Amino acid sequence: MKDYKYIITDRGYNYLPEPYKFVSFNEFIQAISNNKIYDVEFRQIKNTNKNILLNTNIFYMDIVSYAVCIDNNNIFYYKIGCEHDFESENIGNCYNKLTCKKCGIVQNVDSSD
Ligand SMILES: [Zn+2]
Repeated sequence: MKDYKYIITDRGYNYLPEPYKFVSFNEFIQAISNNKIYDVEFRQIKNTNKNILLNTNIFYMDIVSYAVCIDNNNIFYYKIGCEHDFESENIGNCYNKLTCKKCGIVQNVDSSD
């Protein structure tokens, strides 16, 4: 598996990588439809209230990951990773280099289109 810099803490198989937050079904579907998924990882996440394990799949992508988790009949969607704060730097013609001030992840963006 790649090294995903935007994940700050990973406590392993029974936890979601951190940080994470709830997102809507729409955001989840848009994210996994519009981005290349590099890895899918199955975990069983500890539910803090009920002490049971919830089946979860994590979809690892370039600058963020998403997870879907099932608790009885309820389905939860999570966004995993740094809430990026990008700083843009022009690196020639139409290319910009975006660097996150928090986690250091780097993206090159072609702004010609
Ligand atoms: Zn970041």
